[in-house]
Amino acid sequence: MKARVNDGCISCGACVAACPEVFRFNDDGVAEAYTDVASEDEEAAVEARDNCPVAVIDIEE
Ligand code: SF4
Repeated sequence: MKARVNDGCISCGACVAACPEVFRFNDDGVAEAYTDVASEDEEAAVEARDNCPVAVIDIEE
């Protein structure tokens, strides 16, 4: 499973808090998915996607 943060992140930090195993802030201060989503992190990654206030996170198989 892969996650991607599209343009438009407002740096709220929700995804980084929900799933730090996948999301972090990059040098520009916006969130990025820095690794593939391991099976044990899928639930947290989906939660991060669903809770993003601007819906810029995509998750695909
Ligand atoms: S939850 Fe959405 S807006 Fe908030 S930091 Fe993550 S990608 Fe950015």
